[in-house]
Amino acid sequence: MSVKENLALIQKNIEAACQRANRNKEEINIIAVTKYVSEETTKRAVEAGIKHLGENRDTGLLKKWEVLGSKPTWHFIGTLQSKKVKEIINKVGYIHSLDRLSLAKEIEKRADKTTRCFVQVNVSGEESKHGLTPEEVIPFIKEIVDYPKIKIVGLMTMAPYIENKAELRNVFKNLKTLQREIQALELSYAPCRELSMGMSNDYEIAVEEGATFVRIGTSLVGKEF
Ligand SMILES: *Cc1c(COP(=O)(O)O)cnc(C)c1O
Repeated sequence: MSVKENLALIQKNIEAACQRANRNKEEINIIAVTKYVSEETTKRAVEAGIKHLGENRDTGLLKKWEVLGSKPTWHFIGTLQSKKVKEIINKVGYIHSLDRLSLAKEIEKRADKTTRCFVQVNVSGEESKHGLTPEEVIPFIKEIVDYPKIKIVGLMTMAPYIENKAELRNVFKNLKTLQREIQALELSYAPCRELSMGMSNDYEIAVEEGATFVRIGTSLVGKEF
């Protein structure tokens, strides 16, 4: 199937999930994750109507940026080494992987303007996953007051790669609960209105549980390498 057909199907599934959850489909943004595809395929995704692109490495992002420039909104969704911040920070609209103060410090130093960040949370506690534990998130966000260029727009998580739907749903529900706790703090620099959750295999459940950004790679743009 073409990217265009994949996108139509995903939009239909998201719409159905919104209906089940009584949500407005306009609240959900689709990020095409292009880490496994070429610049050419990425270009086709943009032509098919994709407005948000996600990359998890600085090299991949920069290569595609060369071709597509700043027309799409770029999302950095992978682990970000502090030394790579300066390469990408003024090209991306969002960073999804803020998980430590040393990274916040580097962003503060290198960004020309306010940077929208998601705090990455390891809800499931899998050792292979990056991110803060749920208990660490609020103390961390309170420290971000010292970094005026950082705006905490939301929370991001990667669910474990499992089939058990109830378990997946629980991960997303826990992130939503944490979001509400942060919103209740009413911190001006941390409105935390967004939830970045849901990938190819679990985006419909994520939408039912409150995702506002879904990050979809394989089932949208495919996998070429
Ligand atoms: C690769 C990746 C995705 C997309 O994964 P698919 O299963 O191909 O949809 C989403 N989020 C992050 C952080 C990723 O690294």
